[in-house]
Amino acid sequence: MEKVIIAGSGCAGLTAAIYAARANLNPLVLEGRQPGGQLSTTTLVENYPGFPDGIDGPELILNMHRQAEKFGARFSYAEVTDFDGSNKHIRVKADDEWLETQAFIVASGASSPRQNARFNNHAGARICEQEDRTDLEHCGYEIRC
Ligand SMILES: Cc1cc2nc3c(=O)[nH]c(=O)nc-3n(C[C@H](O)[C@H](O)[C@H](O)COP(=O)(O)OP(=O)(O)OC[C@H]3O[C@@H](n4cnc5c(N)ncnc54)[C@H](O)[C@@H]3O)c2cc1C
Repeated sequence: MEKVIIAGSGCAGLTAAIYAARANLNPLVLEGRQPGGQLSTTTLVENYPGFPDGIDGPELILNMHRQAEKFGARFSYAEVTDFDGSNKHIRVKADDEWLETQAFIVASGASSPRQNARFNNHAGARICEQEDRTDLEHCGYEIRC
């Protein structure tokens, strides 16, 4: 039984991983098809706090990854393909394996809103996104981070 599973390793998933790991929750991050997310595909990121001269996207993501690992986050390249939040413990299918977890954080980015909505229809799942915040709030979804 996992304490926390996080779907996605973009900046939202890695931020969640850092906080969960520092709370001794030993999170498992399922990275999906795009490890590092969208920022790992760009060059200069100029609007991130703490970097007055900007920072390379892949370097920023690598730093977040290392920071999460340092506090005990674990990483897998598996992709979430199914989800069952109907019981007390949430079940998440990662590739071909069903995993049980007490909490499930969806940080799968703005590229899969339909999937996010499906996850969030179940109790216990929380959406964690940086973009499209307004749309999701309009729909009444709860957003953390
Ligand atoms: C070229 C480019 C340049 C950009 N430049 C900037 C910039 O300078 N400043 C800025 O603030 N923003 C910039 N952005 C936007 C920024 O990249 C996004 O806002 C940010 O990446 C969103 O982060 P996220 O973690 O929510 O999602 P994403 O970065 O999209 O990450 C989604 C993660 O979810 C995973 N995932 C998806 N489905 C599943 C699944 N079923 N199971 C497991 N994992 C899954 C993916 O593999 C990925 O790891 C840029 C975007 C692009 C494309």
